[in-house]
Amino acid sequence: MVDRHLLIIGGGLAGLSAGCYALRSGFKTTLVEHNTVLGGVCTSWERGPYTIDGCIHWLTGGPFQQVYEELDILPAVPLHTLQTWATYRDAHDGLEVAFTRDLDALVKQLTAISPADAAELARMRVGVREMLALHPPLDAQELGHLGEQLREFWHARGALGTLVHFRGTVGDWTQNRLQGERLRRIFTRMVPETAPVAFLLMVLGYLEQGYLSRPVGGTAAFRDALIQTYRALGGEVRLDATVEEILVTEGRATGVRLVDGTQLAADAVLSTSSAPETVLRMLGGVYDAGPTRERLANWQLFEPIVLASFGVAAPYADAPSLMTLDGERPFDVGGRLVDCYTVRVCNDDACFAPKEHTVIQAIMPTDYAWWTAQGAHYAEAKAAVAEVALTALERHFPNLRAQVRETDVATPLTYWNLSRSWQGSFEGWMPRAGGMFGHVKKTLAGLEGFYMAGQWVEPGGGVPMALTSGRQAIQLLCHDAHQPFVPTSKALRPTEAASASYAGH
Ligand SMILES: Cc1cc2nc3c(=O)[nH]c(=O)nc-3n(C[C@H](O)[C@H](O)[C@H](O)COP(=O)(O)OP(=O)(O)OC[C@H]3O[C@@H](n4cnc5c(N)ncnc54)[C@H](O)[C@@H]3O)c2cc1C
Repeated sequence: MVDRHLLIIGGGLAGLSAGCYALRSGFKTTLVEHNTVLGGVCTSWERGPYTIDGCIHWLTGGPFQQVYEELDILPAVPLHTLQTWATYRDAHDGLEVAFTRDLDALVKQLTAISPADAAELARMRVGVREMLALHPPLDAQELGHLGEQLREFWHARGALGTLVHFRGTVGDWTQNRLQGERLRRIFTRMVPETAPVAFLLMVLGYLEQGYLSRPVGGTAAFRDALIQTYRALGGEVRLDATVEEILVTEGRATGVRLVDGTQLAADAVLSTSSAPETVLRMLGGVYDAGPTRERLANWQLFEPIVLASFGVAAPYADAPSLMTLDGERPFDVGGRLVDCYTVRVCNDDACFAPKEHTVIQAIMPTDYAWWTAQGAHYAEAKAAVAEVALTALERHFPNLRAQVRETDVATPLTYWNLSRSWQGSFEGWMPRAGGMFGHVKKTLAGLEGFYMAGQWVEPGGGVPMALTSGRQAIQLLCHDAHQPFVPTSKALRPTEAASASYAGH
């Protein structure tokens, strides 16, 4: 079976990861990427002397560390462990809550804010620690053996009470279990209301364990290490090439047709493009489209954002590096009134700006349709949003406007134009309560030789899941091709390597 050709649509993290695992497992691969560079939404770009980091605010390690090592991202890229995940700040009265690694101190501060919720906060602390027993599956669930599943279940049995108690969404939990209005607001601003409470517990648990980090050298260092692995394994790349159609012969994916008419043949096709693009457009809605339509009708997508970045001639060294600013005087961001938004101050890595400078970014929800309607006024609309963002930021960063040297605005159209983020949804489906944040099959009924990976088959998206989904899709491919799955170049035999993903959890 060696040298069978896998064609991968999309050169983001999921496509690159799938490419590396496929190459190691004996396939030839070609990544077909719409953009002129690899990385997808996990990217950064230069503005004068500043680096606009477009992605990794926090990288989840712990159980995912194995995947980073298999892909040779670690140890090549050092990680800087986060002492604080993010800081909540209320603009009305300046109340700040830093979500730090000191879980006991966090619970104490939240209890002081809402003493009536002391018991539930204490329950939360227990839940955070118990949840650590649950491990996100690194291996394709479709191939899971009953014995392994039972072993995992047994291992996590101590967390069953926690799973039942915290089974709903953050919105349900805050409404039904918390009494303090302010506490409810803090939680629902830090984590989307529709996200599972289990997600919040996992983040806090991973934070306490030191599993959350940022790559030294920023997103670019992380992305480039993965690209380097893919290239070193001999993977091929076609940039600036957009797939228009997935070709199917007698119920089997046999290649793709690009927008310029070029046809590329393959033995199997893997798509990391969005679900609506893949299932409904490139495959014409012919194969197993019902579940995708149903999800589009009922599931929530990540809201489109404007990312406004300012290169400034001041270090703002004391500012928290990630903040949720709440209770702002509402301001208009592309047809959306915003009173809460995220701020990143890139003051924790020399790679972002010259000495004594930094980059300040406002990440604000917006409306996709509004941006598509701007036509010839698009540049004007971008400048107007930069202006309102600067005015809002200046309330927290004294003298900011005078220090701005570079301005950059990415809109939902930027995300669509450069990385085909469907309707600007840069991270796919929102995580869902139940299962491990919702499971989406990586194959389509009735279509052989076809696989999907990336954030549209892993609700909640994110770097670790994008990479892990590439791994899982190749496990399915290897299974179908009766080929051993080889996850690492290191001296493990394939069978040992396949089971290694269960070890040490
Ligand atoms: C602002 C921002 C902040 C983030 N912060 C974090 C964070 O702190 N931590 C974290 O873990 N995650 C974060 N993420 C999420 C994370 O970056 C993504 O979930 C992950 O990178 C998705 O990878 P992917 O390969 O699934 O998708 P994508 O990156 O979207 O890659 C898909 C690729 O397919 C290409 N493509 C699509 N259709 C076609 C076609 N028809 N033909 C050819 N090519 C096509 C696209 O151009 C794109 O390159 C953030 C994302 C953003 C935008």
